[in-house]
Amino acid sequence: MRGFFPSGLILLLILSFAAFGQTKNSLYIPINIQKAYQNGTRSWNGRPGAQYWQNHSQYTIQARFDPSTNLLQGHEKVVYFNESPDTLKTLYMRLYQDLFKKGNLRDWPVSPEDIHNGVKILSLKINGTPRKAAKKESSINTYRTNLAIPLKDQPLLPGQKVTLELDYTLHIPRKSPLRMGTYDSTSFFIGYWYPQMAVYDDIDGWDRFAYSGLQEFYNDFSDYDVKITVPKNFVVWATGRLQNAGEVFKPQIVQRYQSVFNTNDIVHIITQKDVEQKSITAANDSNTFHFKAQHVPDFAFATSDHYVWDATHLKVCPKRDVLIGAAYKYGAGHFDQVAEIARKSIAYYSTEMPAVPFPYASLTVFNGGGGMEYPMMVNEGAPIQWESTVHVTSHEICHTYFPFMMGINERKYAWMDEGWATMLPFELQHREAPGYDPVARTIRRYLQMAGTEYDVPMIVPTIMYGSNARMSYRNASYNRPGIAYYLLEQMIGRKKFVKIMQEYIKRWQGKHPGPFDFFFTVNDVLGEDLSWFWKPWFYGFGYPDLALQKKNESGKKMTVEVLKKGLLPVPVKLTILYQDSSRKVIEKPMSIWKDGKSEIELQIAKQKPILEIKLGDAHIPDLQEANNVLDIGKK
Ligand SMILES: [Zn+2]
Repeated sequence: MRGFFPSGLILLLILSFAAFGQTKNSLYIPINIQKAYQNGTRSWNGRPGAQYWQNHSQYTIQARFDPSTNLLQGHEKVVYFNESPDTLKTLYMRLYQDLFKKGNLRDWPVSPEDIHNGVKILSLKINGTPRKAAKKESSINTYRTNLAIPLKDQPLLPGQKVTLELDYTLHIPRKSPLRMGTYDSTSFFIGYWYPQMAVYDDIDGWDRFAYSGLQEFYNDFSDYDVKITVPKNFVVWATGRLQNAGEVFKPQIVQRYQSVFNTNDIVHIITQKDVEQKSITAANDSNTFHFKAQHVPDFAFATSDHYVWDATHLKVCPKRDVLIGAAYKYGAGHFDQVAEIARKSIAYYSTEMPAVPFPYASLTVFNGGGGMEYPMMVNEGAPIQWESTVHVTSHEICHTYFPFMMGINERKYAWMDEGWATMLPFELQHREAPGYDPVARTIRRYLQMAGTEYDVPMIVPTIMYGSNARMSYRNASYNRPGIAYYLLEQMIGRKKFVKIMQEYIKRWQGKHPGPFDFFFTVNDVLGEDLSWFWKPWFYGFGYPDLALQKKNESGKKMTVEVLKKGLLPVPVKLTILYQDSSRKVIEKPMSIWKDGKSEIELQIAKQKPILEIKLGDAHIPDLQEANNVLDIGKK
């Protein structure tokens, strides 16, 4: 093909270079991130680059959990694949439960009873050779919640793999249910538990941020084969599909478990009667539950000897019939309806927003804790309010898409998943709890912080917030981005918005998109540079504030000015209330502000006497409401 350039192709090249230059220069991109675009691991059009790579692991874990002592003993084999172009001289693993290690930094106070001496690594083999705890450099080191394993004279070369084998013990916290833990004397949710490979990526190399409680996920996509042994009568729910129901349950439980796919009703796999009669698990002193999951970013499990279990299913695409369950203490809150809410949530995400089939084979909602997501496993309390049950269930399930299907680095960009889990279910939450207005609620919460010095723009990495900054975290991860995404959808309309989400997911599922991969994808799909929106809402200090003032009136016409006093653009909605109680609404999209103007004029017909003209409503954030009203008739 050399020397042959049809004119159409040349034009295309010129156009794409023009788009390239425009996108590249329109947003400030930090140096460490620019490097990835220059190296071709990411592209200026928002797609993964031709050189994109990511590492991954295969975990085989045998764990034994003793509910009477909270001790978990694990044997773990990890095969870690280095797909990067770099030679790795040290491996890093995360020991999340070292959060409770004496002397470690924590974002939340924990019960003194839960403080311990850290996860005990009893043995470590590298490619079959035991690594003894010896002197520095040749040994293994722990620093805060990280375990560093120097590979000494056998570094891990590009394209090579290494096999680690570890024996370890750890204590599951009893009194401090931080994202996991003990929910009652015999019910536990166990996440953040096994020694886990840290992420080595194209932006920062090893992710060595310690876990201090606030940070959530940033994990490789890996395969898990996990066997969990618990005493008799204890049931285990976990990430992945159960491989050996016939071995661990009594026949009638197996029969009900298998019947879930034959009916659209909720199947009560374990009833309160089964619990009372202790006729659930196989008649052994202990049972080993075996789960497998492929290409998932984490593995969590939960266990109880007295939870009931409801289940249903939903075929989200020809290849996937999802097993949907709720495991709970009989009578807890609205939990008898949680399997149904979970099914409706999965249907909503699969067909309406973002209209991408749910990616996993199962999803279990486990009763306890404050609401936390893991792949295929979420936990939540049993709130009295129906809308809270709907809100938390749909929110946690939404995390299946972000940060799990899309491997978001929540340690740096929590808004790239919490913001979506806030915004995507708005419509579903209102539909299932009609008195509940999640948009107005999120706006109210955002406005409590907007414009204060604690209102930190999203682009500041989440990890930079200290342990006193939880209110900034809440604002910058949930409320402000949730509203920004909502305003984006309002501006471009549902159809285009869904198209963007589908394309973004198509490009980045199973990978690690960063903020610019998202911004550039939206720009690319819309064919428009939205920097005028990204900059104030995602980069800028500031708040939304529109104001209304009368400019002039003559005869049957009045001219009003809408002033953009705040730095953040929002749509304009003007409601004219006439003295005969009729109304007229004039709306302008947020994009009316895109060229940087700070005021617009609107003409109002005065065919009838006007009582009041009002700007905005509960679905448009506006920090100062006092400047939104013109009392005409009261003059
Ligand atoms: Zn969340």
